[in-house]
Amino acid sequence: MPEETEAMVIDEAHTVTSVHARAIDPARLARERSRVTGVLAVAQLPRLADLLFGREGVVSYEVEGATSAKGQPVLRIHLTADLAVSCQRCLERLPLRLDVKRDLVLVAAAADVDQLEDEDDDTDTIASTGSLDLHDLLEQEIVLSVPMAPRHPENACGTRLGASNTGEVASPFSSLAGLKRPSG
Ligand SMILES: [Zn+2]
Repeated sequence: MPEETEAMVIDEAHTVTSVHARAIDPARLARERSRVTGVLAVAQLPRLADLLFGREGVVSYEVEGATSAKGQPVLRIHLTADLAVSCQRCLERLPLRLDVKRDLVLVAAAADVDQLEDEDDDTDTIASTGSLDLHDLLEQEIVLSVPMAPRHPENACGTRLGASNTGEVASPFSSLAGLKRPSG
């Protein structure tokens, strides 16, 4: 599967990141069950800049029009992103791969948007406008998916920070262990 995805990404990188691809008609997409796929550079999504370690990274997306089990028009979003964020423990670079799947139910008026919320974490609602900016939509999904306090795994942070205070840590505990002997 990874190999297939790579091939698809390379093929479509040249055609889909055009100006026209930004505006989609969500209702039409759902009605026709058609699909938009493509690849974006992170540098094309300016709202992500504050969240990331650098401007590197690529987002692959697939947005498919569909009908929900209840007969509602839906946009099925699937995006994968290879990004780099700052580790909140050591502030060094932390690679982050996102794999986001979300269904957006299209509702007629903005007033209805909130009514369907909380049904499912992977389902949300959007007002069915005639034209939707695809970059904004993907940007929003990524912002919602980046962890609040990303960190390296426990022992993988920069060793410079940990090196200075590892020597003394063990001794207080070993003396405590000597004092607290279970009796009886
Ligand atoms: Zn770290």
